[in-house]
Amino acid sequence: MADNLSRYRAKRDFKKTAEPSGEVDVRSSNRRRFVIQKHDASRLHYDLRLELDGVFKSWAVTRGPSLDPSGKRLAVEVEDHPLDYGDFEGTIPKGQYGGGTVMLWDRGYWETEGNRTPEEALAKGDFKFRLEGDRLHGSFVLVRMRNDRDGGKRTNWLLIKHHDAFSVDEDGAAVLEKNLKSVASGRTMDAIASGNGRKPKPFMLSEAVVEADAVWDSSQGLAAEERKDGRNIKPIASKKPTSVERPSSAMPDFIAPQLCETLDRPPSGKGWIHEIKFDGYRIQMRVENGEVTLKTRKGLDWTKKWPAIGSAASSIPDCIIDGEICALDENGAPDFAALQAALSENKTDELVYFAFDLLFAGDEDLRDLELTERKDRLAALLSMLATIRFFASSNISRPAGMRC
Ligand code: MN
Repeated sequence: MADNLSRYRAKRDFKKTAEPSGEVDVRSSNRRRFVIQKHDASRLHYDLRLELDGVFKSWAVTRGPSLDPSGKRLAVEVEDHPLDYGDFEGTIPKGQYGGGTVMLWDRGYWETEGNRTPEEALAKGDFKFRLEGDRLHGSFVLVRMRNDRDGGKRTNWLLIKHHDAFSVDEDGAAVLEKNLKSVASGRTMDAIASGNGRKPKPFMLSEAVVEADAVWDSSQGLAAEERKDGRNIKPIASKKPTSVERPSSAMPDFIAPQLCETLDRPPSGKGWIHEIKFDGYRIQMRVENGEVTLKTRKGLDWTKKWPAIGSAASSIPDCIIDGEICALDENGAPDFAALQAALSENKTDELVYFAFDLLFAGDEDLRDLELTERKDRLAALLSMLATIRFFASSNISRPAGMRC
């Protein structure tokens, strides 16, 4: 079956990436295995890999699997992966195919459902299967889409949960937010990216070949280079309270932010305001007793990536702010490429946090207030700070009375 992997190998330079090349023999199993890898590449996605005919059939699930049967997820078919990929966790260097951090998010066994063989079901474009993993269970279907918007270059499927004992009626993505650590190492994405913490426990590889696993931690690649150069940034909060010391608070740890939607034309009529669509990282700032956390729109804790912004914010009163971190070009316009460069070089002191909404002020939940009122409160809160810029106007639209 090695020929199935030629596309996989053609896309990768194994001198540069620590991903397995498929050379290692993986024990056969009397049950078919699956893994899901959370992959923070140019766009965060979850790679679903189902063992079949000696390889992993693979799909990049754009928003991650949903447990809600009404939550259909785009699953882009990608090249077959070698079975030893099922133990890979680490960082693919920037500039390489799929550059970014990979976490082993779930793994276990799968079986086909219905009378067709899995090969027949895949050919038909209607592939029902049951997962038995640590985090995902029960029946799913992959349905191939008839009209491929990408012009046939990629094959798009939908991943849909079937109704069963493991499905939910709402909040189908909650399972993703509840499980932010590796199923194999217990590490967060940040820990994996920095090459810290435990190595993943192998699943595909027998104990006898665990040695090979040493090659796959972050001893090579971007994160390792940064460690060697001593470029690892230090956490901004040295005075991190333990959970015992931490006072109870009405402020949630994280509020899932409202995301942009694309419309044909801007809404008209009264009751809308227009804002800039920043080209940066959407970041939720939470300040409590001077301790600042900066979380991505998915709730990943990226505080350590922006030490200057974190320390600037430590002087503001307890609050949760919605905003975006940007790099600015010489004209003062957000420049996403410059932001990525700044991040990869840990040169984040010049970045700017654009604060555009105030969700909590102290214990007070402001989400029921009108947006314009929250912006007024935000402006008042931030008037003392020169390092955080406040922008209230320009070209995306939000209803002025909208709740968060
Ligand atoms: Mn991927």
